Amino acid sequence: MDTAEGPNRVVFFGYSFQPNKACLVCEHVFSGKRPVRIIAHDLDGWIQFLCGDEAHDPKCSKVVALEEVLRRHPIDSKDKVLNPGCFAELSNSLNWVIYEM
Ligand SMILES: [Zn+2]
Repeated sequence: MDTAEGPNRVVFFGYSFQPNKACLVCEHVFSGKRPVRIIAHDLDGWIQFLCGDEAHDPKCSKVVALEEVLRRHPIDSKDKVLNPGCFAELSNSLNWVIYEM
């Protein structure tokens, strides 16, 4: 993992990433039809942005740069840490709640 700090790094849920880090996005979030309700940080390093709907065809996922996802869907992750193996779910009171997978 690249741990170098720099002005162009994106700090997201307690981690620092390259702005062009490839992320997986469900087709509904990609199209803007639904907001992001679940963010998963996989053990293999992938970050997934999902609408939280039940049925998803993995083949319909899109690969989008982290900064592009956050530009379209501003997400306030400060004071929260999303470790690999965990996911964050947006509560009804619009707080991100962290769970283990
Ligand atoms: Zn979706």
